[in-house]
Amino acid sequence: MPAPFERLIEPLTDATIAVFLCVLGANIGSFLNVVMHRAPRGESVVRGGSRCPACGSRVRWHDNVPVIGWLLLGGRCRDCGGGISPRYPLVEAAAGLVGAVAAVEVLSGGRTFPEGRFGGWHAGADVLLVHADWQLAAVCAAHAALLLILLCWALAELDRVAVPGRWFIAAAAGLAAITTAAGGPTVGAGWPGLAEAAVGAGAGLVLGWAVPNLWLRQSLVLSGTILGWQALFTAVLIMPLAAMVRMAICRATGWRTGTGPTGCDLLVAVATQVLAWRWLVAAWPRAG
Ligand SMILES: [Zn+2]
Repeated sequence: MPAPFERLIEPLTDATIAVFLCVLGANIGSFLNVVMHRAPRGESVVRGGSRCPACGSRVRWHDNVPVIGWLLLGGRCRDCGGGISPRYPLVEAAAGLVGAVAAVEVLSGGRTFPEGRFGGWHAGADVLLVHADWQLAAVCAAHAALLLILLCWALAELDRVAVPGRWFIAAAAGLAAITTAAGGPTVGAGWPGLAEAAVGAGAGLVLGWAVPNLWLRQSLVLSGTILGWQALFTAVLIMPLAAMVRMAICRATGWRTGTGPTGCDLLVAVATQVLAWRWLVAAWPRAG
């Protein structure tokens, strides 16, 4: 094999995995749009293809490609010309970015985590393919699942739709199980995982007590379960910054500002915390 081609294999494999995770995320976002639209109406989320909310005509598969479909149609239905809310491509893009967060965490070999949590000897596709680090993969999967659930809860807050109790319990139990299996929120930094997850959830409950917002309260509990109490506090400190950015964007684009959704700020704050964990810990030595 010629040397130049050999040198390209590694970056190409890494890029393929990163693109795959982003596309997977965007497609999950597309599904979340369907769930958040149909579930409150009691409609099936698996049966029946996507339909235009205005004229009811079936959306063609090539118009249903996440983000790109909406852009190519100029935000209008192909049949009736009715406007399609930019919320749909925005949710797909946000979920695609969750895939990007997971890609950065995994492909960096865990270098975004506090020092010493992961070996960090390997990076790129190596981490998944040759020297597979399943603990790292599980923690990154748990982070991605948490971010996607926070996205759902933020949408529920925007729509003022209650999250059914059984959804919340299922989400909390599932996330706690993955986190515990992967060594706890701070990844085997000392305590048994389940105890650490429980303390993190408790911290979320304490913080959530102060907010008169059930969606945010549930999101804080889930975030504490996955991240541990230290990282949860850091994320909560980042929230006002995220809110300032959100309000600046709303003002610039003329979208309705209102007071929420605060879940959107928590989503951005948790994503920032996860990506900057190592550097945030360095800046604040007591956080972990
Ligand atoms: Zn239509």
